[in-house]
Amino acid sequence: MTYDIVIVGAGPAGLSFARTIANKGLTIALIEKQPETRLAAPEFDGRDIALTHQSVRILQEIGVWSRIAAPDRPPIRAAKVMDGTSPYSLSFGGNSEPHDALGFIVSNNVIRKALYDEVHALDDVEIHTDLTVISVATDAREATLTLSDGQRIRSRLVVAADSRHSDTRRMAGIPASMHDFGRVCIVCRMGHSKAHDETAYECFHYGRTLAVLPLDSHCSSIVVTAPINERDSIMALSDEAFSHDIENRFNCRYGKMQLSSKRFAYPLIGVHASKFYANRVALIGDAAVGMHPVTAHGYNLGLSGQEILAREIIAASAAHTDIGSTTLLQRYQRRHMRATKPMFHGTNGLVKLFTDDRAVAKLARRTVLRVANNLPPLKHVIQSKLTEAGRDKRRFPALFRPR
Ligand SMILES: Cc1cc2nc3c(=O)[nH]c(=O)nc-3n(C[C@H](O)[C@H](O)[C@H](O)COP(=O)(O)OP(=O)(O)OC[C@H]3O[C@@H](n4cnc5c(N)ncnc54)[C@H](O)[C@@H]3O)c2cc1C
Repeated sequence: MTYDIVIVGAGPAGLSFARTIANKGLTIALIEKQPETRLAAPEFDGRDIALTHQSVRILQEIGVWSRIAAPDRPPIRAAKVMDGTSPYSLSFGGNSEPHDALGFIVSNNVIRKALYDEVHALDDVEIHTDLTVISVATDAREATLTLSDGQRIRSRLVVAADSRHSDTRRMAGIPASMHDFGRVCIVCRMGHSKAHDETAYECFHYGRTLAVLPLDSHCSSIVVTAPINERDSIMALSDEAFSHDIENRFNCRYGKMQLSSKRFAYPLIGVHASKFYANRVALIGDAAVGMHPVTAHGYNLGLSGQEILAREIIAASAAHTDIGSTTLLQRYQRRHMRATKPMFHGTNGLVKLFTDDRAVAKLARRTVLRVANNLPPLKHVIQSKLTEAGRDKRRFPALFRPR
C-alpha cells in the first residue's frame, strides 16, 4: 500500500493533523495501536486540558470545536498563582478584564472523541487500528514502514505522533533530551460546596503543588503534584480521606469537597526532541515536545505545531513540489522550535524554582510573584504567552463576547 502521508498515533496530535491536511488531494493513513472501539469512545483519563485562544481557533477551523457542547468547554475567567502558605497571589484576568476568558477547559477524552468523529467521516484518511510500526526505512524518495501484522506500507512522509516515548522517533534515529522531574501528577474531579467563580489556581505549596481548573460552578479538576515516592500512599487513600486531605490543603476555600471521579497518576517526564525531522520523517505533538503540565501547554504546542507542518505540506502539494523534502521539514522545525524551546526550558525552570524548598528559593519565589504582579508589561507578556490571545482575539471576536 502506498500513501502520501502515514501518521503514527491517533492521539489528539495525530488526529488533529490528519484533519488539518484532509481534503487537499493527499492520501493519508493513520496507524494506531489501540482498538477502534477505544478511539470511538475514549474513556475519561483524568486530564482536563486548558486550551488557549489559538488552540480554540485551530479547533474551530478544523470543525472540531462545534462538536464540543458548550457545557463541556467551560471558560477560565481568572487565574491566581500562590506560593507556600502566603495568601498573596499573582493574578491574571478577573478584575482587569472581567468579561474576557483566559482560556477554556475541555476533558482530554472529549477532545479525542470530537477529533475521532471528525476524522472518521473523511474519505481520504484511512484509520488502521490494533497495529504498531515495527520498522521505518527511508531513502531519498520515500519511507517504508513494516507493521506489527507484517504488512509493508510506503509513503512520501511519515509523521510521528506516538506520544512522548515515541518508538517512531527512535526508529528514525532522532535523539531527545528527557527530564525526569521525580514527581507524579495525580488528577481527578471533585465537587465542592462553594462556587469557584471560574478562577483557576496554581498553589505552589511546600512539598506538594495543587492546581484547580474550574468546570461546573461546583465542580473542579484537581491536579496534585507530589514527589514520586508519595504516589502509592496518595493513591491508596480512601475517597473520603483523599477528599478531606484536599479540602484541608485548600484551607476550606471551596467548602466541603468530595471526589467525583477516579484518580489517575501520571509520572512527570519532560521530553524535547533535538530535531523535529529526519529523512522523510516529521515529529509532532508529544513526540516532538512532551511538556510538564504546570504551564498547560503540551497539547496547545501540539496543535500549533501540527498546523505549521500542515500549512507547509498543503502549500507544497498545491505547488506540485515534494511534500517530504528536507527543506520543507527544516522550515517546519525552525518555526515550531521557536515556540517550543523557550516554553519547554522556561517551564522546567519554573518547576525547578517552585519545587525547591530551600530558604533562598522561597525568597526568590516570593519576589518573582510580586515583581510579575506589579510590573504590568511583564504581567502582560506572561499572560499573552500563556493564553495565546492577541492575534486570535482580533480574528475571533465572538470568543471574547461578554458572558
Ligand atoms: C496530567 C496532565 C495534564 C495535562 N494538561 C494539559 C493542559 O492543560 N493543556 C495542554 O495543552 N496539555 C496538557 N497536557 C498534555 C496533553 O495531554 C498532551 O500534550 C497530549 O495528550 C499529547 O497528544 P499526542 O497525540 O501527542 O500524544 P498522546 O496523547 O500520548 O497520544 C499518542 C497516541 O499514539 C498511540 N501510540 C503510541 N505508540 C504507538 C505506536 N508505537 N504505534 C501506534 N500508535 C501508538 C497511542 O495509543 C495514542 O493514541 C496534560 C498532560 C497531563 C499528563
